[in-house]
Amino acid sequence: MADQAAVGIVGAGIVGLAHAWMAAEQGHRVTVFERSPQAIGASIRNFGMVWPIGQTAGEGLEAALISRRRWLQLAEETGLMADPCGSIHLAHREDEVAVLEEFAERAPSLGYDVQLLTPAAVLKATTVANPHGLLGGLRTTTELAVDPVAAVPAIAAWLSERYGVVFEWNTAVVSADSSGVVTASGRHVACDRVVICSGADFETLFPALFAGSGLTRCKLQMLATIPQADSWRMGPHIASGLTLRHYRAFEVCPSIGRLRQRIADETPELNRYGIHVMASQNSRGEVILGDSHEYEQEISPFDSTEIDDLILRELRRCIVLPDWTISRRWHGIYAKHPTATHYAAEPMPGVSVRTGPGGAGMTLSFGLAEREWNPHTDLSGAPA
Ligand SMILES: Cc1cc2nc3c(=O)[nH]c(=O)nc-3n(C[C@H](O)[C@H](O)[C@H](O)COP(=O)(O)OP(=O)(O)OC[C@H]3O[C@@H](n4cnc5c(N)ncnc54)[C@H](O)[C@@H]3O)c2cc1C
Repeated sequence: MADQAAVGIVGAGIVGLAHAWMAAEQGHRVTVFERSPQAIGASIRNFGMVWPIGQTAGEGLEAALISRRRWLQLAEETGLMADPCGSIHLAHREDEVAVLEEFAERAPSLGYDVQLLTPAAVLKATTVANPHGLLGGLRTTTELAVDPVAAVPAIAAWLSERYGVVFEWNTAVVSADSSGVVTASGRHVACDRVVICSGADFETLFPALFAGSGLTRCKLQMLATIPQADSWRMGPHIASGLTLRHYRAFEVCPSIGRLRQRIADETPELNRYGIHVMASQNSRGEVILGDSHEYEQEISPFDSTEIDDLILRELRRCIVLPDWTISRRWHGIYAKHPTATHYAAEPMPGVSVRTGPGGAGMTLSFGLAEREWNPHTDLSGAPA
């Protein structure tokens, strides 16, 4: 590739924006092709949790911490929200306490910075924990709160202004090869390198590659409250004991099997819909609540009130909100690889496919892209 390459990025979700940023920073001429008038996929439908604590030790955690640094840089340069609120995993059951204790014991050697909290300390650190039956918590300081609805378009505008990145909105790419891309109107755009960041669209470009990739689509249901009154803030992001069975980071804990078994025995409906519950708060004071996980054939175009009710039932067990009035409900779909942190393939010279960070695209994308484009990346990823 020439020093100053023409780079074409397909998709203006967070993965596409991350590659656009890192390529532009290296001096390349970047054009982003987005089929919609603005990005409306998973990247604007999420909690806005930058979530190093859920990533596996090693590559995942390292990429998350590099991303964290990048979000803080963005906040400084653009005024976007990137609140270093941290997180608390709440424990309301003995088996949840056991997992948290085992994790805290192993955390330092794995690179996580965590602190076990007594119930009193939890209640001091957050206004939102349900004190009823509270047994303790795990505090971490590495998580950020970002506002995806505001951030995604603002990053595109900033890339355009700061680096001259060209955004071609309403422009679907219908084929790509080593010479560049062809848009839906039949226009050929020459590129030295094409990066396909098409999210959960497996049909349009390289369908045979996707068919053999192992990637699956996952649908998540979400809810948001109205803005809480009187500038009430919940503090750190909250994860429930159910979340411990969701993120791979906790698989190092011997007690995780016991916790999984109890949930399967007591509340099989939660496993049926992949429900674990979390809460974050955006800059408008809304509390974002979720979520469920349904894969491929289970995915219905319609949302299920049963799933929303189960999410709210579980949240009410672990948190107390001043106002539970729901203002919005939606779902999002992301691509996920069953084993890898993300999916990367090179179907032909000069063409790369990058997708599938699963439920961690806001957490991983900047770090993964930086490692690819910037040969001088400091891989220590220490929080700024
Ligand atoms: C409900 C929900 C909650 C989540 N919560 C979190 C969280 O708190 N923290 C976190 O780290 N992650 C979270 N995630 C995961 C994260 O949102 C995703 O991993 C991430 O947004 C995926 O980004 P993407 O760019 O791959 O996909 P998308 O955002 O879907 O972007 C892909 C883009 O490509 C465009 N496109 C596709 N094909 C073409 C084509 N042929 N031509 C032109 N354009 C094309 C699409 O229009 C789309 O805009 C959550 C996801 C969901 C759904």
